Amino acid sequence: MAGMTPFFRDLSKAELHLHLEGSVEPDTWSALDPSLAAEEGRDRYRFIGFDGFLRCFKWCVERLRTAEDYAFITARLLDRLAEQNIRYAEITLSAGAVLWRNRDLDAVYAAVRGASKARPDIETRWILDAIRNFGPEPAMEVARFGAARVEDGVVAFGIGGDEERGPAHWFGEVYEFARGAGLRVNAHAGETVGPESVWAALRIGAERIGHGIRSIEDPALLRELRQRNVPLEICITSNVMTGAVESLRAHPVRKLYDAGVPIILNTDDPGIFGVTLGGEFELAAREFGFSETELREIAANGFRFAFSTASPV
Ligand SMILES: [Zn+2]
Repeated sequence: MAGMTPFFRDLSKAELHLHLEGSVEPDTWSALDPSLAAEEGRDRYRFIGFDGFLRCFKWCVERLRTAEDYAFITARLLDRLAEQNIRYAEITLSAGAVLWRNRDLDAVYAAVRGASKARPDIETRWILDAIRNFGPEPAMEVARFGAARVEDGVVAFGIGGDEERGPAHWFGEVYEFARGAGLRVNAHAGETVGPESVWAALRIGAERIGHGIRSIEDPALLRELRQRNVPLEICITSNVMTGAVESLRAHPVRKLYDAGVPIILNTDDPGIFGVTLGGEFELAAREFGFSETELREIAANGFRFAFSTASPV
């Protein structure tokens, strides 16, 4: 990767918070749909604020029309991961969005699973994500779909979308069902809403928190995360670009780490944000003074908190 120092590039890494739909690079859209102008992707990726980001993500979902489209973007994402020595990936498929678009989720999942099995050099597992602001019923549909594929690459169930308009307590039953079916569970929380959203995610049993950056506002919550060993899936550039934090300097990653909360570094939506995981490690070193030893430990966390057995070979 251009511009990335060999240490970050060569470090054996795992990516645990990575959305397939947000991994599409801007210029790929016109390859997928020749009716789109070459610059359309780049224009669409210029959004402002968190709502603008959600609209951008929705635009991506709407452009993915066929199972072949999903297979194509999965293969391309896995190429990018291999270039950065990412050995293990849990990729989130917005299954809730596939159902919302009335697409054939069976065919889409078979396509992405097939594309990931074709790359045995990266151990890939799938997290199926429901759109929390749509409420618990569509989420249960996603959980049922995942429960039937525990033996076929689905490792976890989660919720994403607008945490303000879809509080975690709506999903207690869905999480109970998912766990009972052998799925692991995580949840986006504490990204745009305060600590109470993280507490609510913990109450329904979330084993990892997507973002969770606003936990920094509540010392009791920091203690809880530390004692229960619940990691935060930190995505620094994502938080800056969606406006979840005011500025790069205001990002609490260093404070969270110093408070003893387990953290993992991730890209979230590498195509939309124009980032790589190696680049995020480099950013952590440059802007937040993480040492090489600390970054090795954070990289190891990616394997340690994986939902499936993974080894940092
Ligand atoms: Zn995310």
